[in-house]
Amino acid sequence: LQLSPMEASAEFVVESPDVVYGPNAIEAQYEYRTTCVSREDGVLKVYPTSTRFTFRTARQVPRLGVMLVGWGGNNGSTLTAAVLANRLRLSWPTRTGRKEANYYGSLTQAGTVSLGLDAEGQEVFVPFSALLPMVAPDDLVFDGWDISSLNLAEAMRRAQVLDWGLQEQLWPHLEALRPRPSVYIPEFIAANQSVRADNLILGTRAQQLEQIRRDIRDFRSSAGLDKVIVLWTANTERFCEVIPGLNDTAENLLRTIQLGLEVSPSTLFAVASILEGCAFLNGSPQNTLVPGALELARQRRVFVGGDDFKSGQTKVKSVLVDFLIGSGLKTMSIVSYNHLGNNDGQNLSAPPQFRSKEVSKSSVVDDMVQSNPVLYAPGEEPDHCVVIKYVPYVGDSKRALDEYTSELMLGGTNTLVLHNTCEDSLLAAPIMLDLVLLTELCQRVSFCTDADPEPQGFHSVLSLLSFLFKAPLVPPGSPVVNALFRQRSCIENILRACVGLPPQNHMLLEHKME
Ligand code: NAD
Repeated sequence: LQLSPMEASAEFVVESPDVVYGPNAIEAQYEYRTTCVSREDGVLKVYPTSTRFTFRTARQVPRLGVMLVGWGGNNGSTLTAAVLANRLRLSWPTRTGRKEANYYGSLTQAGTVSLGLDAEGQEVFVPFSALLPMVAPDDLVFDGWDISSLNLAEAMRRAQVLDWGLQEQLWPHLEALRPRPSVYIPEFIAANQSVRADNLILGTRAQQLEQIRRDIRDFRSSAGLDKVIVLWTANTERFCEVIPGLNDTAENLLRTIQLGLEVSPSTLFAVASILEGCAFLNGSPQNTLVPGALELARQRRVFVGGDDFKSGQTKVKSVLVDFLIGSGLKTMSIVSYNHLGNNDGQNLSAPPQFRSKEVSKSSVVDDMVQSNPVLYAPGEEPDHCVVIKYVPYVGDSKRALDEYTSELMLGGTNTLVLHNTCEDSLLAAPIMLDLVLLTELCQRVSFCTDADPEPQGFHSVLSLLSFLFKAPLVPPGSPVVNALFRQRSCIENILRACVGLPPQNHMLLEHKME
């Protein structure tokens, strides 16, 4: 179905006694129908349940600032450039014709949802961003930190991601943007990064934490912002050890920082953000959000999300393996090679940083395997191997080669081979955008139930963002979902609930009757 231009920007109103559009908020009564399963005398008993929720979404969209840690990197400079290019409605010539700025790759900006069927029985789609009031990406204000002092124009040139004609137009706008000094602790990232490190916050860990907090406050007030969200898109760090007494509780983590004991730069940024009441999102694979940071976020009622943007190979994997196992094929071997030539690739060429990435990429099919006890015995799982190599020549144009081997019926074998080439940062930037916009929206949603009438927000570990992360963080005890379309449905259906719409069920029963 082609969207008419009007529908592409359509606002819609839900006509229902359960939905009230007030001047400040949209309030929706919502029946959450699910099931509860219990094992009784060797029989699984399934009890349908129903809980009445009231969702309240504040309508006022704030002036939102985004602080990127690693602002001068490929992702940071590309995202900043993309928002500017869209805001300025830029177009530029290339050898295949003129290109125009857009937000392809963003779920909220380029994805759609079906509102239902019209009188002709055809589905009516609107942009995802039309579901609820969201910050417009063109209105975002950027700031950030980098251990490299290059301004954003020079950083864009160093990244070698954008066409020259676009770079030239963006240059004067980006030149004035300069990353704030950052915290550099050499043992956390690859030694090959040391040449970049010329823009540093010196002092003790406690002083560094205070400086980051001052930076956030300074940005908020000088740019006249209502809210700030902090997003880590700096180099992948090595894992840090979770040690009782050091970083296992909020109190211990804060004491560790005061005493100058081991803490990673990313955890310092997370703690600073949480203490400033700003959501913190981790776009890299390392375990930034140690138990102490999670506890601090919970105490301060601040959202945290992670880990590691789900952009290319992993995104495909979380679709393909879902398709294979969901179709009843027994996937037995998944082998993934990557090579890339950007600074991320150079950093990942060091074993401890590669290890962080390997772990993050490896758990991505676990939920799909565990969902099928017909195919897999308890504890059985496919072989899963991930290789990453640094090849400078290919730059940001990352190559991902995957081989999936599955067992068919009667001893047959199916091998699928995939070759994926594209600019890594152009995949990551729209994901960063969605993370920020959805997190901000979630900050305006509260809900209560008949049994618990006290309004509350989502859990501080914002698992609704799982669609956008390779190794999604979830609240304790919550199942981890990696399957991409289950993750997408989660976002879509929760947003639909906020305007009193039932979950998207794809049954199309209207068309299955005579
Ligand atoms: P990049 O190396 O180009 O950018 C990282 C930037 O972080 C650099 O400018 C570096 O100077 C800076 N930096 C390093 N340590 C810092 C610190 N302590 N404080 C502030 N700045 C610091 O890398 P990139 O391609 O932009 O990727 C960024 C991160 O996102 C990497 O960890 C990568 O693994 C992760 N990631 C990227 C993708 C993708 O598709 N591009 C997908 C998933 C995850």
